[in-house]
Amino acid sequence: MPPRVIAVALLALAAANARAAEPAVAFLTGDDARKAIINDAMEPYFSRLQLAEMEMKTGKAFPDGTLEELRAECRKRYQNAVVDFTPEEKTLLAAAVEKARALTTAYPLYYDLPWSFVKTDGTIEGGLPYTLGGSIFIAQRDLQMALRVAADAGAGILTHLLLHEQAHVFQRKYPKIMADLYQNLWHFEKLDPIAFDSALIAKHVFNPDGPDVTWAYPVGNAADHTFIIPMVIAEKTAAAKTWVMLRDMTMVAVPLTRKDKTFTPDLTDDGKTKTVDLSSLHDYIRQFPVGGNNYHPNEIAAEAFAIIALAQDNTPERWKPERDWFKAHMQPAPRE
Ligand SMILES: [Zn+2]
Repeated sequence: MPPRVIAVALLALAAANARAAEPAVAFLTGDDARKAIINDAMEPYFSRLQLAEMEMKTGKAFPDGTLEELRAECRKRYQNAVVDFTPEEKTLLAAAVEKARALTTAYPLYYDLPWSFVKTDGTIEGGLPYTLGGSIFIAQRDLQMALRVAADAGAGILTHLLLHEQAHVFQRKYPKIMADLYQNLWHFEKLDPIAFDSALIAKHVFNPDGPDVTWAYPVGNAADHTFIIPMVIAEKTAAAKTWVMLRDMTMVAVPLTRKDKTFTPDLTDDGKTKTVDLSSLHDYIRQFPVGGNNYHPNEIAAEAFAIIALAQDNTPERWKPERDWFKAHMQPAPRE
């Protein structure tokens, strides 16, 4: 090769190496996206869904069938919701990823995660952003909204969302690391699966970003041995014909009493699993000031991470212990 060609080749190589140092950003389309949207191998999701939440999440009633058949139909609806990114949307998301990266250099284990996006038409999960496996699912509406403002502001709008969603990807990859935060800093207890009654199971809304509902939080006086499991249930008025996501979601808590090492859900007078309004638990609400994201430790942690990363040196006093925890634990050489 003539020297000039060699120089150009070396430059290209250097550029490739520089890129290799950055975690990848993938925009999945077609079969890859349709595979990713039902791939819950890392953490079961579709196999846990009940009829009410499937109707709510897909915005449509289901025909008669066994629960297995309904879940298969649900997977199909999710796959049908996949759409392709426009070049403008990819540029916007890439810019938002850059902003998120610049804010997370203090957390290398998070920083090093690859980014993977799938775009949906918004007909699933009520059009809300969520994650499954290693991918972030984002509805066209959110992308279009961000594209309507100036490019830099649009990427800024998405940065908080991306920091939060990628934190869920982190949680799924490093559950043992996250358990340390939940148990040792926040004092959640990890329980064995609880036998809720069938009426509550039928109403339960599984969150793809926090499907594990065995995290119990101590409330009241320590001597009472009372705990709660926060969760989301589907409840609509008799007049409402169809389920509507968000409108028909209620944040509740299941009170439990610990005796020796066993946690038993409190029952109502007619023997049903008791639930209370999560917002009535003032100490809990005050302890986790993350707005509506307080219904699962994964959500609290994802929102806290986004708040802390965006605030940088201005992290509110309340979140400084969590910032220290993230800095200490989101380091290479994971402990699992
Ligand atoms: Zn979330």
